Amino acid sequence: MREPSEKPLSWRERRKRARVTVCHCCGAKVPFCWQCRCGFAICQDCMLENFWGMSCNGITWQCPDCGAQNGFGNQ
Ligand SMILES: [Zn+2]
Ligand SMILES: [Zn+2]
Repeated sequence: MREPSEKPLSWRERRKRARVTVCHCCGAKVPFCWQCRCGFAICQDCMLENFWGMSCNGITWQCPDCGAQNGFGNQ
């Protein structure tokens, strides 16, 4: 008795699709960035550093590029 050695395709596709984002603030390549609809991206480190400059309520952050309000929740 042997197990079928099938690897789920989705796993490989996921790895292919997983791409890094470049932080517009420090230029670091990170797997996760906060992103604005205008294309601006900021990494977790920079976000924490500039948190009180970009967010006034801890729920949304303001994009320094276009001034749009982006939520923390739905990313
Ligand atoms: Zn950064
Ligand atoms: Zn923006």
